[in-house]
This record gives sequence, structure tokens and C-alpha cells, in this order.
Amino acid sequence: MDELDCAVIGGGVVGLAVARALALAGREVLVLEAEGAIGTGTSSRNSEVIHAGIYYPQGSLKAKLCVEGRNALYAYAAERGVPHRRCGKLIVATSAEQVGQLESIRAKAEANGVDDLVQITAQQALEMEPQLHCTAALHSPSTGIIDSHALMLNLLGDLENAGGMLALKSPITHAECSERGIVLIAEDGTALGCRSVVNAAGLGAPALARRFEGLPASTIPTEYFAKGNYFTLSGRAPFSRLIYPVPEPGGLGVHLTLDLGGQAKFGPDVQWVESADDLVVNPARGHGFYAEVRKYWPALPDGGLIPGYAGMRPKISGPGEPAADFRIDGPASHGVPGLVNLFGIESPGLTSSLAIGAHVARLLADA
Ligand SMILES: Cc1cc2nc3c(=O)[nH]c(=O)nc-3n(C[C@H](O)[C@H](O)[C@H](O)COP(=O)(O)OP(=O)(O)OC[C@H]3O[C@@H](n4cnc5c(N)ncnc54)[C@H](O)[C@@H]3O)c2cc1C
Repeated sequence: MDELDCAVIGGGVVGLAVARALALAGREVLVLEAEGAIGTGTSSRNSEVIHAGIYYPQGSLKAKLCVEGRNALYAYAAERGVPHRRCGKLIVATSAEQVGQLESIRAKAEANGVDDLVQITAQQALEMEPQLHCTAALHSPSTGIIDSHALMLNLLGDLENAGGMLALKSPITHAECSERGIVLIAEDGTALGCRSVVNAAGLGAPALARRFEGLPASTIPTEYFAKGNYFTLSGRAPFSRLIYPVPEPGGLGVHLTLDLGGQAKFGPDVQWVESADDLVVNPARGHGFYAEVRKYWPALPDGGLIPGYAGMRPKISGPGEPAADFRIDGPASHGVPGLVNLFGIESPGLTSSLAIGAHVARLLADA
């Protein structure tokens, strides 16, 4: 049996950031990715937004790691030349009742350390975005967008420069955990003895953890899948900033994001589904988008929205339940030496990736 110091299961943005952090801390690291390329899972089906950290409950891992991760990501992207743009975002109130909600959003953001939100009038918003209709708005200057694939390639480059390795087409099927270490078994039967293992398998992380012999079943959450459908705008983007309505119960509302090429898209919405593979966008879901978008962009033309793509949120809380926090379960949570399970790493997982990497490296520092 081959022996190894650290294995990271999953070559998405989070697995790569964790592997990089472990390698930079001097550990011997191998990333095991099931597919033939890195970043083909949720990491390639998201909004590519660098979130400021506005909406998450105070004291949550999401709040803390988003703010830390955002700062680290802007610095990293600038240093490495990863394409990104600090384009800013407007959260828009479109009725008098919603104006009051802006102040509570601002207060919540401030409690999370996001202290740069500024409330602006409808006139000021119009000067920034001439096509926008709103009653008032909050401006978040530290929200931005990033090329997630360029980010992942840079993380992989750092990993390899620090002596780490990537094995593609290497799906792990199960593991045996004991005091002596963790033995990973790959689909082809190969066994790999590891001192430390990080389960960063994204949508598949809970199911994989259930196949870890010696890991208490009570420490593994039930997984749920919430699909997010996007509709692309045909033609030129009407805005240069990201535009979000005031959040509604259960979601952020139908918002507009931009990619670095200037293409605008609306979404993602929230559609609970049974299978993580259900990624086809049903064009009929676009009908509901028009009325929502026209609340803040009345000029949206009929037929302007084209079915785009969908991403799948790796949820660990079900429909109607409060959104769960990230779970980064180290040995103190489940009792297995050297193991870290990452569960429920939905948004803002991309923004938080570097901070999650640092957090996991600390958890495994003595393992
Ligand atoms: C619709 C949507 C929009 C989002 N928008 C944003 C945003 O704008 N900003 C933001 O910060 N975050 C956003 N997110 C969240 C972000 O995309 C995720 O948090 C992040 O991509 C998760 O990365 P990951 O590495 O954990 O998972 P993944 O990218 O899914 O990677 C997991 C990897 O594990 C591999 N794998 C699975 N099982 C095995 C196995 N048994 N053996 C080996 N390999 C295995 C998979 O092939 C995959 O490559 C969004 C998410 C969604 C769904």
C-alpha cells in the first residue's frame, strides 16, 4: 500500500485552496479528483461574484470566512494577475416599505465587519446607473467579480510549486479510519494510507463520508440539492454594477450579475430537486423572471432572456429550514484523527476559498 501525508478529495476551488494551504505549510499533498479536469463541479457553475459578506448571520463561519476570504482573494488576484473587477453592487429598494429594510441590511453587514455600505437616494442611484428604477439603494463598493477558472489554475500552480500533486480520474469510493490513519480506496481498488484526509467532494461530500468506516454516522448531515437557474440577457448589459433587489424570504431575489466580458445574466433562482445531476434549465422558469426584473429595470424587452446554465447548491438544510452554516468538521467534531469533512460549502464558498484553506490547515496543524 502506498503511504502519503495528506490527501484532499475533490479538485474544485475549495479543495484546491485547501491543498495549496497545506502544501505551503510544508505538508506532502495529493489532490484526488474524480473527473478528467479540475473545477468541473459547482466551481464552474456559479456567479463568480466576490461577495462582500453582507447577509450572513453574525458570528457564523460564512460571515467570518467570507470577509477574510474576500480580502485575501482581492490581494491574491492582484498579485497573480487573476482577472477580476471590483465593480461594486447596488441593493435596490423598489417600494417605500423596502426602504426600511435597507437600514437593517446595513446594520447586519456592519456586525459582520462590512463597514463600507452607503445608503444612496434614487437620484444618486440614477446617476450611477441611468437605466435603474428604485426608491433608494445601498451601494457595496467591495463586491466584485472574478475569473474562477484562472483562480483555480493559479491555486493548482501554487500547489505544484510547493511540491503537491494532482491525480485526475481518481474517484475515491470508500475509506477505513482508525487510530493508525486513514486508508482511502479508489474505484480501481488502489489503497492509499494517509495521515490526514480532507473530504472536499462538494455535492458528494456527505455520501462519501457515509462510506468512511469508523466515522460516526451521527456526524454526517443529510444532503439536499437546490438548483439555481440562470437566464442570460441577449444584447448589451444595461448596468455596470451588480444589481440585487432587497432579499426576500428564502432567497436573494432575481438579481443581475455580470461576467468579466460584460455579459449580463439574471438568477440564480431556487429550485429544490432530487438529483445533483439535474442541471438542464427549463425555459418556462424564465417567465417568472420578467416581472421581478422589471421592478428595477422596466426597460427589459420581451424575449430578452435566454435560458443560460444551472448550478447546484450543496445544501445541508432542507426547503423551509433556515440556511445552514458551512460545516468544517475536524477531529474535535467527529473523533477521527487527521480527518476534515467539508459539508454545505455553498455560496460564498468561492469568495471564502482561501480563508477555508487557511482554516483547514490550522485544524490539521498537529495531525
Ligand atoms: C448557483 C450557484 C451560484 C454561486 N455563486 C457564487 C458566487 O457568486 N460567489 C461565491 O463566493 N460562491 C458562489 N457559489 C458557491 C461556490 O460555487 C461553491 O461554494 C464552490 O464552488 C464549492 O467548491 P468545492 O470545491 O467545494 O466544490 P466543487 O466545485 O463541486 O468540487 C468538488 C469536486 O469533488 C470531486 N469529487 C466528488 N466526489 C469525488 C470522489 N468520490 N472522489 C474524487 N473526487 C470527487 C468533483 O468531481 C468536484 O470536482 C455558488 C454556488 C451555486 C450553486
